[in-house]
Amino acid sequence: MKVVKSLFPIIVLLIGAFYGYQKYYQLPVSASIGITYLAHMLAIIVVGLSIRFSRSSLFFYVLLVVIANVALRLDWAKGDLAYSLLSAFIPLLLVVLTILPDRGIFTVKAIPAYAILLLVGVFSLTVIMISPAWATFFFLTDWLPPQYFDWTNQSQTVLIVSFAALYILLTLCILNPSLHMAAGFGVLFMLVAQLHFGDQTPLHFGDRSRSLNVFGSAALLMCLYAILQETWRMAYLDELTGLPGRRALGDKFRKISGQYTVAMLDVDHFKKFNDTYGHDAGDAVLRMIAAKMSKVSGGGQSYRYGGEEFSIVFTGKKAQEAVRHLEALREEIANKPFIIRRAGRRNNSAPVKPVRNNSVKVTVSIGFADSGGNKASPWDVLKLSDKALYRAKGKGRNCVSE
Ligand code: GH3
Ligand code: MG
Ligand code: MG
Repeated sequence: MKVVKSLFPIIVLLIGAFYGYQKYYQLPVSASIGITYLAHMLAIIVVGLSIRFSRSSLFFYVLLVVIANVALRLDWAKGDLAYSLLSAFIPLLLVVLTILPDRGIFTVKAIPAYAILLLVGVFSLTVIMISPAWATFFFLTDWLPPQYFDWTNQSQTVLIVSFAALYILLTLCILNPSLHMAAGFGVLFMLVAQLHFGDQTPLHFGDRSRSLNVFGSAALLMCLYAILQETWRMAYLDELTGLPGRRALGDKFRKISGQYTVAMLDVDHFKKFNDTYGHDAGDAVLRMIAAKMSKVSGGGQSYRYGGEEFSIVFTGKKAQEAVRHLEALREEIANKPFIIRRAGRRNNSAPVKPVRNNSVKVTVSIGFADSGGNKASPWDVLKLSDKALYRAKGKGRNCVSE
């Protein structure tokens, strides 16, 4: 599901790019000039945002799009060998820059990324100048029967490298679905298309500026989308649990009116749990509880309020209607044995209790209150549910109280 969610917008942009490429000549001239400026503006915006939010992968993706575009526009890659080198190294570099761990942009840790780019640049220029026999053989030999490759002017080596790179990134997208992986795959697809359609013999594939403008802009739009989504995620979602955070709850409260119920949930004796099993195990408990909360019945929307406290909002429900859903959630958490995977250390100091039977039970207490037909503000209702939570703790915990 996460794979589809992260790849879907990128696939839509991919289809849009190919459609735009087909219809390019039907556009008024002013629009095609506009697309050229669009690509420039997008590049500047994405570079600015990626530096501001320290998204190094997206910064390097833009750098590759710019390198490919400049090389093609200025006709640096003259001759079959030069074009093949460019077309093979751009996808390879994109894969390498995706796999390298996040390294910042203007940091010491980013040096390997710049070094790889520089090394590949110097290597390519040297090979182009010397044009050694092995390079011509490696990059321009037809390994397979050429009649199957009438549809492209790219060399077979470039095709093999391009498909391998696409395959690697698609596999990474499926194994580790994230927006930045999906954007990497989309940008790679666009660069491969750009290099394929921007080939030196335009007769077959149309003129170069068309592919540069359309596929270049689409690649940059993918980066922009990824960066905007990422900043939204950073602002609204809690990093540890993936649930919406306090800001999202504030937004919900600004919009909500009429009948609704707010519940506060707090993990019982959580400090002791952390002290006994370690902070990492505590974090895993919070993730487990959040996963259960995200599936709470009755249409409840869950938020991480802060620390080990969570909120649930039931829009349109009175307290008496919400209580059975809260009771079911409490019971589900209490009945789920939590497996301690490994003993950790709390604050790197106190040794944790050795885990003999590695299954423990975690319970939560829940307090709730309803809006009483819109008499109070949502924050007042939340305060009432917080008071109810204290009553639940007073009753001995692992219970739901109004
Ligand atoms: P009670 O049953 O009364 O709620 O007792 P408690 O120990 O749960 O309550 P207390 O407020 O004393 O402790 C809350 C603990 O939650 C303290 C803090 O270390 C822990 N905590 C808060 N946020 C996190 C987190 O993100 N990860 C982990 N592992 N622990 C957290
Ligand atoms: Mg608490
Ligand atoms: Mg607690």
